[in-house]
Amino acid sequence: MADTHTTADALPSPNLARRGIMFILSSPSGAGKTTISHMLLGADEEIQLSVSATTRPKRPGEVDGIDYHFVTEAKFDAMVEGDDFYEWAEVFGHKYGTPKGYIRKGLKEGQDFLFDIDWQGTQQLKQKDEQDVVTVFILPPTLEALRHRLETRAQDSEDVIDRRMDRARAEISHWAEYDYVVINDDVDECFVKVREILHAERMRRTRQTGLIPFVRGLMG
Ligand code: 5GP
Repeated sequence: MADTHTTADALPSPNLARRGIMFILSSPSGAGKTTISHMLLGADEEIQLSVSATTRPKRPGEVDGIDYHFVTEAKFDAMVEGDDFYEWAEVFGHKYGTPKGYIRKGLKEGQDFLFDIDWQGTQQLKQKDEQDVVTVFILPPTLEALRHRLETRAQDSEDVIDRRMDRARAEISHWAEYDYVVINDDVDECFVKVREILHAERMRRTRQTGLIPFVRGLMG
């Protein structure tokens, strides 16, 4: 029997605008995620950082509105009450959340966003927006290497380092929930791999709605 469905029928509607990608990077602290995020934002003009709100104190060098929106507990709770967050979670004693408004609007207009969020936020975004979400987990090469990085990064006591390692193990336990896993053996190589993932995800047929008129033209 002849197939009544032509390839043209199988293509998505040309009226569908390309939605932005929610590109999520997670990792235990010390695995290089912040460096990779900065490299990606510097190299790719089409992706913007989703700036989270947090109740944690500002660290030296951080800028309000650029790294985070630093808010009080009261303000954060009011935002939760007002349903202003796409997702939010408590991470190691502080609250962190993704403000909803501009992300929703941007995604609709085709803007890609980079999210530096933990596994709890990732699960929430996946449940809400499976199609737009691409998740990447960055792993340290070994736990010893991670410990070494934590020891050289900050002059913390053994106790503090032990606590950070416990948190790292807890975060790492969620690695299998991610679409992609990249081991950060070498930061430049890790960055290239993460960028390749973003490029490949942009090439997905379902995201290339701009190609439709072209393909229709090819089919005559
Ligand atoms: P830090 O305080 O070191 O900047 O971040 C601590 C952890 O909170 C990191 O794992 C980071 O990815 C996560 N985080 C930052 N912003 C958000 C957010 O908006 N939502 C969630 N769920 N986690 C976040």
